Amino acid sequence: MLTALERRRPLRRVREVKWRHVSRNIVFGGAAAATVNLLERPVVEPLARMVQRRRFGLLYVRRLPPPLHLILAVVLLDYTLYVWHVLTHRVPWLWRFHLVHHVDRDLDASTAFRFHAGELALSIPWRAMQIAVIGVPPDALHVWQNIVLLSILFHHSNVELPIGVERLLTRFVVTPRLHGIHHSSVPEETDSNWSSGLTVWDYLHGTLRLDVRQEDITIGVAAYPAPADVTLANSFALPFTAQAST
Ligand SMILES: [Zn+2]
Repeated sequence: MLTALERRRPLRRVREVKWRHVSRNIVFGGAAAATVNLLERPVVEPLARMVQRRRFGLLYVRRLPPPLHLILAVVLLDYTLYVWHVLTHRVPWLWRFHLVHHVDRDLDASTAFRFHAGELALSIPWRAMQIAVIGVPPDALHVWQNIVLLSILFHHSNVELPIGVERLLTRFVVTPRLHGIHHSSVPEETDSNWSSGLTVWDYLHGTLRLDVRQEDITIGVAAYPAPADVTLANSFALPFTAQAST
């Protein structure tokens, strides 16, 4: 649906051949899905069940009504994902992997799949910590996983929403224009809009940025501007090669 809308109402000018860009990102998505299913799921699913059984973690300190426990768990998972996102930019060996997501020269719904399998593998200890510290039961974990997937597909999409609608939405959730600024090749603009679901975290940390026109944004990383930088082979190898200064 988003891809159809991107065709009818594109937000930013497209630089790459669409089918090549999308099919490349779907390959990334395949490797990412395999990593999540083979490595992450066997860790986080039993952990969430154990957390629930033993009433472990922050939210189990008091007995909360289950719906409230679920909502708080989802909100705190969203906040700790904000922190993880900042870390993937700030910690050099994490940035090596997150860079693969950012070098994409067009930003569209398929970019939501473009995560290096290594980044997802490295996020497993963080995810385990989120679940154990917050006290996330399996149902809350599954609700959050679905919300995050939908949110990531939506805010990476290259769909032009009516400006009034988007202005209203940015008060609550991350939107395509907002996340476009995070994918700008200007470092000061990349260092903003870190939220993945609710925008409240950027508001609280003073990292929300709205004052960049989409027409002025070049998507990507300045040190990796060439079409050759985003090919499958080069992108998979990127974390393991000498890094250009970003
Ligand atoms: Zn990022």
